[in-house]
Amino acid sequence: MAARLSISERLGANSFQTDKTPHLTLSDPALCTRCELKPCIRVCPAEVYHWDTDHLRINYENCLELGACRVACHQLGNGALRWEFPPGTRGVIYRYG
Ligand code: SF4
Repeated sequence: MAARLSISERLGANSFQTDKTPHLTLSDPALCTRCELKPCIRVCPAEVYHWDTDHLRINYENCLELGACRVACHQLGNGALRWEFPPGTRGVIYRYG
């Protein structure tokens, strides 16, 4: 019987085909400055979003393509996030379901 892997071990096995063009963008960065809760930072399990002094930094290369950040931004935040899947064969490649 195969050993069970932890969530961290499963996520660590993923690989990424990063596109040069970010698939996560902002319609207006000023909306993020005024966003009180900044829920995108809290909901993303891949820690894609970080607040850098005065602006939101988006490490789109680590995106797991869950879409939770889009829901959080548009339901609880200021709706600045533009969320798309990476094009073609780009993005995350899951090794485990
Ligand atoms: S939740 Fe939306 S509006 Fe708020 S900081 Fe994140 S991306 Fe910006």
